[in-house]
Amino acid sequence: MRIILFGPPGSGKGTQGDLIEKAYGFLKISTGDLLRRAVEDQTPLGKKAEVLMNQGKLVSDEIVEELVRQRIASPACRPGYLLDGFPRTIAQARSLEAMDGKRPEVVIEIDIDLTALVERLRNRLVCSRCGAIYNLNLHRHRREGKCDACGGPLHQREDDKPGVIKERLRVYKEQTEKLRDYYQRKSVYRRVDGSGSIEDVFQRIAILINAEVAKQTQTRALG
Ligand code: AMP
Repeated sequence: MRIILFGPPGSGKGTQGDLIEKAYGFLKISTGDLLRRAVEDQTPLGKKAEVLMNQGKLVSDEIVEELVRQRIASPACRPGYLLDGFPRTIAQARSLEAMDGKRPEVVIEIDIDLTALVERLRNRLVCSRCGAIYNLNLHRHRREGKCDACGGPLHQREDDKPGVIKERLRVYKEQTEKLRDYYQRKSVYRRVDGSGSIEDVFQRIAILINAEVAKQTQTRALG
């Protein structure tokens, strides 16, 4: 099975993706994380992506599609995987189907209002070493400026600065939101309320995943 976490920047896809990975063992593939790593390593791809990311714009479909293609070809993804931040355009959704079209999929939108989103992005801190995500209100770190998990330094993402947040939300509205219709038409779209605590949202998502896993098991037993 494949789970696609869908929703605007700041809706909690990364945080919920980590929890789903831990609870269900689906490997999480975050195109944002893969790109940030490439930027940090200053690979040719990373250098190309960096400028666009810092402006809140999308990196080209070809670049992210290639990153995802390499990941899902790995044996660790065979039992199932989870996508965070991909697809973000209709072209990417089509390309994913071309790469791995037979796999059953469920698309879960984390629905959250705009004011809460901006608040979350502004208060987000990320560990420079392990990528763990913190939030000054929802999930505060314990030691000043340090990651609870690995002790690495925490920083604010360049694209979580106010001007860039605005552009990312504009790009989401213009290019990514139309995927909702696309997946509704495929009858694989589900939605959860993204408000409340991290645990509340995870419980809502878990109900959907459990139902989907049960459905897949039944289909396999019948087939
Ligand atoms: P994220 O961590 O998912 O918010 O992604 C951070 C940035 O990486 C985005 O604002 C884009 O610049 C880039 N990015 C991540 N995923 C994609 C994608 N699927 N398509 C294009 N650009 C992406």
